[in-house]
Amino acid sequence: MEEFIGEEGSNAKPGPESPPVPTNRPSDSLPDEVIEPKREEHMLFERFMRWWNCRHSGHKQPIEPERHFTFFKIWDAFAQTECPLCYLTRKARNLFLSSLWYESVNDVGLRNRLHRSLGFSPEAAATSQAMGDSLGMSIVYRALSEDVADRLHTHRSVHPAEPCPVAEHVAIMNRNSVTALAAHYVAEDVQALHDKSFAFCLQHIQEMLDALPTPGLQRTLRQIEEKKFRKLREELDTFIAKSDYQNHEPPGPERDAWLRAVRKFHRQEPHAH
Ligand SMILES: [Zn+2]
Repeated sequence: MEEFIGEEGSNAKPGPESPPVPTNRPSDSLPDEVIEPKREEHMLFERFMRWWNCRHSGHKQPIEPERHFTFFKIWDAFAQTECPLCYLTRKARNLFLSSLWYESVNDVGLRNRLHRSLGFSPEAAATSQAMGDSLGMSIVYRALSEDVADRLHTHRSVHPAEPCPVAEHVAIMNRNSVTALAAHYVAEDVQALHDKSFAFCLQHIQEMLDALPTPGLQRTLRQIEEKKFRKLREELDTFIAKSDYQNHEPPGPERDAWLRAVRKFHRQEPHAH
């Protein structure tokens, strides 16, 4: 399998500035537009076969990859009282926007991107607002306002031509975290960490289920999350019962169950730290 991983790595299409592809490879007699789709198809087939073998080998458990920086970042995020993947997503957004407002407000490439996306996603806009860089935001929105006025004057569309660059960056970071965690989920200490944590929000439960390589691991994740939702339901039951004016029991750990329920069902507000 390693040889295919290597081939995937070398399959990246050369960018406009990349040096020309060496001419001594056997397939050079074919034009690139003929070669590239075939290589891509081959790569997809290999990926599919790896997934299929993993799912249907029965006795074979996937092997956990080596633990690196990304893994330990995810490990630490499980200590939060919210979905660790939501927490990391928010951190990635905050970091990207801090750098944008402090260093890149006048970056021509980024400014052009923002003109194509006509500003930010609602999450990125809310986070930027909370960061409160009034001058930076004035510079960016001044240019955008002029652009929109020109578009309206010349009957052009005010529909974004591209997604928000911040949202795009955050989506990539999220995908990387989910893929990394799914690869390490085979380890029992990772499953135990998941079990004793807040666990995932609804959206990340599904993303993790889609990314896990075997039905066995999916079952483990489902069982842990089912337990969390049953417990939450019980606590909400208790909260409702104690809300009755005839009930004089003091409040217990169920007092903030309704807040935890919101975090379990929805991503946390984007600007929370
Ligand atoms: Zn989440």
